[in-house]
This record gives sequence, C-alpha cells and structure tokens, in this order.
Amino acid sequence: MIDLHIHTTASDGTWTPGQVVTTAKHIGLDAISITDHDTFAGYEEARPLAAREGVQLICGIELSTKLHPAGGTGRPKTVHLLGYFLRPPGAVLLDWVKLQQQIRHERNVELAARLAELGVPVAMEEVRERGRTMAGRPHFASLMVEKGYVSTLQEAFDKYLDEKGAAYVDKHDPSLAEGIRQIREAGGIPSLAHPIRLNRFGNDEEDLIRQMAKMGLQAIEAWHADHTPRHRDRYEFLAQRYRLAVTGGSDFHGDNKPGVELGTGKGKNVAVPRKVLERLRSLARV
Ligand code: AMP
Ligand code: FE
Ligand code: FE
Ligand code: ZN
Repeated sequence: MIDLHIHTTASDGTWTPGQVVTTAKHIGLDAISITDHDTFAGYEEARPLAAREGVQLICGIELSTKLHPAGGTGRPKTVHLLGYFLRPPGAVLLDWVKLQQQIRHERNVELAARLAELGVPVAMEEVRERGRTMAGRPHFASLMVEKGYVSTLQEAFDKYLDEKGAAYVDKHDPSLAEGIRQIREAGGIPSLAHPIRLNRFGNDEEDLIRQMAKMGLQAIEAWHADHTPRHRDRYEFLAQRYRLAVTGGSDFHGDNKPGVELGTGKGKNVAVPRKVLERLRSLARV
C-alpha cells in the first residue's frame, strides 16, 4: 500500500516529516508522498531519513488555485491541485512556489488585522512561529482555540475563517490552468485533489473534470479520506473516460484532522495499491 497525500509540520500537519517517515515504515507503506501546501520543505527534511529507512518518498506539493466559472460570471471556486515530481523540480517552479508563499503571507497579515478588528486578536508573530513559511488558516484556528475565543477548530472556521466567516480574506491564488502549467513545465504530474470538494454532482461535475482535462490535468485523486467507495468508483470511471490517471492518499494532517489515519484514511476507507505509482511513473517516463 502507498499514501500519496500527506501533510507535515512544514504546512498544516501536526506530525514532523520524521514522524511521518518512521510511522510509514512501521505500518508497512511501500511509498509515500509528502504534499504540503505551497512548500517542499517537509519533503526535503524527510529525504535523508526516508533513504536510511528504505521508504520510497515521492516529491509532492498541494497548491490552492481558483477556477473561474465558464461564461465569466459567478464566484471563482477554490480548487486544490496536487503535483507529483518523480524528478526534482527546477528553479522556475521553486521561484513560483516562493511567490505563492508571499501571497499567503499577505493574506495572513490582512486576516490578522480583521481578527483584531473583530476583538479576537491573533498576532502574526505567533502564527509565524507555528506555521513557519506556510502559516495558514489552520494555524490561526488552533491559536484561537488556545486563546479561548472558540472551543473547537471547526468553530473557528465556521465563525471566522471559512468563506462565510466574519474574518474571511480572499487569497489571490493563481488560476487552475496556471497551476497545471507550472507543474507540467517542471516535469511534474498534476492531479485534482479530493474532487468531492468541487461540490458538483452528476453532469456538472463531469463537465468540470472534462474542462480540467483539456487544461492539461493528468490525474484525479480517487482514494481520499472524504470519499466513500462509491465516490472512488465514480472518479475511477471518470478518469478512464477522460484518459486521466488516478492518484490517492489519506490527506493526513495529524491532530488538525481528527479521525484521519496515515495510509488508511477514515475508518480504513483508503487503501491505495502500488500499481497507482507504477502508472504515474510510466506517465512521467522515469
Ligand atoms: P489556507 O491555505 O491557509 O487558506 O488554509 C486552507 C486549509 O484550511 C485547508 O487545506 C484545510 O486544511 C483547512 N480548512 C479550510 N476550510 C476548512 C473548514 N471549513 N473546516 C476545517 N478546515 C478547513
Ligand atoms: Fe491542509
Ligand atoms: Fe486539500
Ligand atoms: Zn491536502
């Protein structure tokens, strides 16, 4: 079994890259990919240990992008895009990723100001200490629980941080097409993360996936902790129909996503076979 969707303390996970590698080995995973939001720092940190422990480690990333609705009216949709690199990504992509970190930082400064206005201040220094280069809303949420403003992470999102929350600040994410292009030009394989969160069903969902395939998307995530077996079957079917590969993983975040386990997801609903990685290798020709 493999797990191609894992977060560490380099982004919004609560396990260090070392803990992830050691546990992956302990539970017998054949390969893992660390896919932190907007950073390769967790992957880089895990690399020497993975080599020593004999755990195959695939370089990955998860990017936040926006998909503008066809026709140009209505609100853009946030779409998470995974990128897998079977060879190390080059300087152009690394610079572009740095730019995404800058955009994130600017959003965080605005978000901190909004929270202060609302009488629930969270200092940027505290957020930065916790989230390093990739501080995000989950770090704000856990600080808000600690300060007693809310009692759970979910309440922090519902009241303040979510799109409908009082302190929500839009992040100027790149378009999905741009994300796909950056990953492919760096020799990576772009995969649509947790398609269930497109929140579209039936023909609408299929139209979106067709549109993404035209943009150059190469895979969709079929196994995910938020997918039931029926969802998985549907995404495998859609992948085949639009000549996309499938990927899969738990989207493990440690304590930031209670109930999701490394390798196996929620109640063992994730079990990604090794052949998924073989198919990706043949796509990347390595
Ligand atoms: P950011 O990239 O800083 O905008 O934060 C996005 C991250 O926050 C996502 O990857 C999730 O881990 C988490 N998140 C977003 N919306 C919610 C929500 N409604 N409830 C819980 N976690 C959320
Ligand atoms: Fe996350
Ligand atoms: Fe995601
Ligand atoms: Zn993720």
